[in-house]
Amino acid sequence: MFESLSDRLTGALKDLRGKGRLTDSDIDATAREIRLALLEADVSLPVVRTFIANVKERAKGSEVSAALNPAQQIVKIVNEELVAILGGETRRVQLAKTPPTVIMLAGLQGAGKTTLAGKLAKWLSGQGHTPMLVACDLQRPGAVQQLQIVGERAGVPVFAPHPGTAVGGEGTLGVSSGDPVQVAQAGVAEAKTKQHDVVIIDTAGRLGIDAELMRQASDIRDATNPDEVLFVLDSMIGQDAVSTAQAFAEGVDFTGVVLTKLDGDARGGAALSVREITGRPIMFASTGEKLEDFDVFHPDRMASRILGMGDVLSLIEQAEQHFDEAEAQRTAEKISQGELTLDDFLQQMLMIRKMGPIGNLLGMLPGAGDMKDALSQVDDKQLDKIQAIIRGMTPAERDNPKIINASRRIRIAKGSGVTVTDVNQLVDRFFAARKMMSQMSGRMMGGGMRKNQR
Ligand code: GDP
Repeated sequence: MFESLSDRLTGALKDLRGKGRLTDSDIDATAREIRLALLEADVSLPVVRTFIANVKERAKGSEVSAALNPAQQIVKIVNEELVAILGGETRRVQLAKTPPTVIMLAGLQGAGKTTLAGKLAKWLSGQGHTPMLVACDLQRPGAVQQLQIVGERAGVPVFAPHPGTAVGGEGTLGVSSGDPVQVAQAGVAEAKTKQHDVVIIDTAGRLGIDAELMRQASDIRDATNPDEVLFVLDSMIGQDAVSTAQAFAEGVDFTGVVLTKLDGDARGGAALSVREITGRPIMFASTGEKLEDFDVFHPDRMASRILGMGDVLSLIEQAEQHFDEAEAQRTAEKISQGELTLDDFLQQMLMIRKMGPIGNLLGMLPGAGDMKDALSQVDDKQLDKIQAIIRGMTPAERDNPKIINASRRIRIAKGSGVTVTDVNQLVDRFFAARKMMSQMSGRMMGGGMRKNQR
């Protein structure tokens, strides 16, 4: 799902990697690519316009975090804007104060309402509820029977009129089996009597939007006063998703959206447009024909999935969490003057290690895939060893590694349980790294680099 959108977005953002500074024209070029990606994924034009305007404004604005490089800033902004158009917070089902909670399903024929009724019922049962299904799709031949099969699979009872008899099976309620409004009302009454705490009403759909369909759905709504009206939307219908959603919003009104068939090669347009267009949250996602292929819709998870950069995003989050700006500034100054000590080195390492195992961390960096071999040699054991060696030194040695002569090296090796060669290697590498860093930082300062343009 969303594969091509995901590929295109990742591609657009990839070009920013390694740039120390982003000019306005870099940002414009990236925004153009993102715009194309969204349009190709069938996202509706007004939504694309708002999205791009927001990303540009934020990217060019003063919103900079010293913990992130410019490319990461843009990824962060795009991700946050995606979360926003997908609805922000995860929206949970609103339960009635006095049961039963009534949930009504509406949508076009074939959208996946009946299948969803079973999925929702099973999911609610798993949460400790005792749902009952009500079959109000009396139009489509076989719809009632289909709901009965679904109910059986989900292990929940189904309230349905027997063909040719009145509602309630034996005609006890004295209503016509042909009237979906009466069936819905009788279903809710039955749930109350039998103490089911949730009632799910499946309604009829049409192949296209029509006045009769809307009237019937809104009559059922008025008669049962549902706590939730879920608009079931087939995410494969592309641009039609927007007009369908608008028609249902006006004709029936709904409290939430369920996206179905997200397992198909949906381009993502419906998911990314429907919330913004209707102002109603996406609450559930259906991803297959089986009852288990169903989940609560989490805008943040979906956004990072669409962006295809889950790992980079968690790296960004961790970097922001653990970044200490004053400390970084001090270290940068020491580096530029060639005064970095082994203590600073240890502190840096500890800060990085707070973010998790080093292998994971490196694996999260974009492009790390190409460096697998090199990375496999950096492991936590090696870092443990470096840590142990530095800890085996006296404060004076850490402060001024030049005093670490042969006899000191032997003592340090013994104290930290390593060989003298290990100590030699660390000290040599430290000097080499310090020299290189100081040279690099000298060049950067000379080139007028700003602090956060690392
Ligand atoms: P209704 O007319 O709205 O009640 O739609 P149905 O529940 O009868 O579903 C129409 C068709 O879509 C059926 O063949 C379902 O098996 C299928 N379907 C429903 N939800 C999904 C889904 O999430 N993924 C896939 N691949 N098929 C689905």
